[in-house]
Amino acid sequence: MGSHMCDLLLREGIRVIVLDNLLTGAERNIEHLYSRPDFEFRFQDVTEPFEVDGAVDYVIHMASPASPKDYLDHPIETLDVGSIGTRRMLELAQEKDAKYLLTSTSESYGDPAVHPQVETYWGNVNPVGPRSCYDESKRFAEAMTMAYHRSRGVRTSIARIFNTYGPRMKLNDGRVVPAFMDQALRGEPITIFGDGSQTRSFCYVSDLVEGLYRLLLSDEALPVNLGNPHELTILEFAKTIEEMTGTRGGRMNRELPQDDPRQRQPDISKARRLLGWSPKVPLAEGMRYTVEYFRSMVETVA
Ligand code: UDP
Repeated sequence: MGSHMCDLLLREGIRVIVLDNLLTGAERNIEHLYSRPDFEFRFQDVTEPFEVDGAVDYVIHMASPASPKDYLDHPIETLDVGSIGTRRMLELAQEKDAKYLLTSTSESYGDPAVHPQVETYWGNVNPVGPRSCYDESKRFAEAMTMAYHRSRGVRTSIARIFNTYGPRMKLNDGRVVPAFMDQALRGEPITIFGDGSQTRSFCYVSDLVEGLYRLLLSDEALPVNLGNPHELTILEFAKTIEEMTGTRGGRMNRELPQDDPRQRQPDISKARRLLGWSPKVPLAEGMRYTVEYFRSMVETVA
């Protein structure tokens, strides 16, 4: 998502400095920008001290593992980047008098008892479960952001991002879109966790970054949901991928991970009202681009 955000900002004529330790990101996603004079990449862990010379208009804090597989592999790094990393990015925004945007998550709602999820819902999060390293880190990051806003007057916004997909995801990312794509394109069984009746709502990445950009330019400090309200079960999603790829690998069931949210759908009324934003790319179209991308990835690896 970060690389897509870079593309959008550069298109808007904004110079970009990327700080990334590439813990879970892939350098190939930004290599096409290396020759540009208005783009700079720094290998930097934002939990460590760093300095940025000159004026900065915007600070966008997107750093964090985001796939359950990645944050379960790196729970302490995930908590650090949501806490120490958030603090450092907020300090930078304060020092530069820059507008700050935090990318938070629908995981702030945990396994939600309110459906669809509205921003005013406080969530249902297990604070000590395996996913808590991500959920609580992001919830802490939201609290820290609001504290800098309220007590230090930093101009801040918080996006709660729902499941997003599209080109540039890692093949072995572990999330449902790359996992099903990889399996379908190799003709292997699609792994359905649980009975597949849990739901998610998938937003195409170009829509999502457009929402982030509008939020960056807005004055709204309280969280805003960004995502596509088109909700479907994981089983329905598997069937869509089977039809699109023509795979004959079949399916297999695996145990549902602990605290896996049963349902998830964003209420995006606030984003519509405040940002004039709503997703434009239907699932079938977004998935066509995504299948194309994963096909080339699978062929490269083969
Ligand atoms: N899932 C699945 N098979 C997989 C990977 C994920 O059935 O190989 C399910 C997972 O249990 C969850 C949903 O797909 O219910 C979305 O999982 P993902 O890891 O993409 O993101 P989450 O929304 O859980 O953060």
